[in-house]
Amino acid sequence: DKFKEGLTKTRDNFSTKVNDLVARYRKVDEDFFEELEEILIQADVGFNTVMELIEELKMEVKRKNIKETADVQSVISEKLVEIYENGQDTSSTLNIQDNGLTVVLFVGVNGVGKTTTIGKLAHKFKTEGKKVLLAAGDTFRAGAIDQLEVWGDRVGVEVIKQGEGSDPAAVMYDAIQAAKARKADILLCDTAGRLQNKVNLMNELEKVKRVIEREIPGAPHEVLLVLDATTGQNALIQAKTFKEVTNVSGIVLTKLDGTAKGGIVLAIRNELEIPVKFVGLGEKMDDLQEFDAEKYVYGLFS
Ligand code: GDP
Repeated sequence: DKFKEGLTKTRDNFSTKVNDLVARYRKVDEDFFEELEEILIQADVGFNTVMELIEELKMEVKRKNIKETADVQSVISEKLVEIYENGQDTSSTLNIQDNGLTVVLFVGVNGVGKTTTIGKLAHKFKTEGKKVLLAAGDTFRAGAIDQLEVWGDRVGVEVIKQGEGSDPAAVMYDAIQAAKARKADILLCDTAGRLQNKVNLMNELEKVKRVIEREIPGAPHEVLLVLDATTGQNALIQAKTFKEVTNVSGIVLTKLDGTAKGGIVLAIRNELEIPVKFVGLGEKMDDLQEFDAEKYVYGLFS
């Protein structure tokens, strides 16, 4: 199970500590909850989310009259899933059009794994029998276009590009015309992730979106923000900034395999109210999985 494998580091960190805690305390008391709180914060679950969880746990323990710490473990899993779902839209499926072109825009800062994610998704859709095209919309960073082409070759999909420094909106226009001409099903669009200049970034994304909207009514169908799980609370800050700049419909959390602090999924979900749609669990083409809260939470313990 890839999902479980990708969570190895987080699970080793988290469940070892929780098991140790349960063994040391045996009886549920205030100190037990305090230490549990500390473990959750260290796993990057996020302060607000941890406070909410601990409150819920205390109430549930009271309600069920739980005395032994060993009996708290299953309640922790239940509450974590509940907090993740929290009455919100948690669907990880993408808004794919049955007929006509689906346009997916990728945003996120450099190095988070945007190109890799586009490559992985291209592979996934291609495997499902869909015709996929890539748009090299990051015309700012040296090497970004080449890097996307490497993935295009690897997966066997065409990349629509112009030269470095060209107008990203013009690239999008070209890519949409190409997608229409080739009767493509999915167009995956890279963008430049310059968070240093929020106004420029906003203007660039707005212009790109305007071109897409004009050419394909209802598009872009998804705006996916790519975040690197290993950057912990920084990922949360990036997400907040991008949310201010553009409408984000979903999150792809990469490099979950590379961190022991996979609790960041819960923090992102709970504090931003944007669903995590995919998680990256490695560098290879098929190391991308649809996010599943139950699988994730239960994967932390077993
Ligand atoms: P970009 O600058 O956002 O386009 O980032 P890249 O796609 O070039 O990825 C940066 C680095 O992260 C590369 O070395 C990727 O192989 C690596 N990477 C991307 N996604 C994952 C993932 O899910 N797990 C791991 N372990 N590495 C990843």
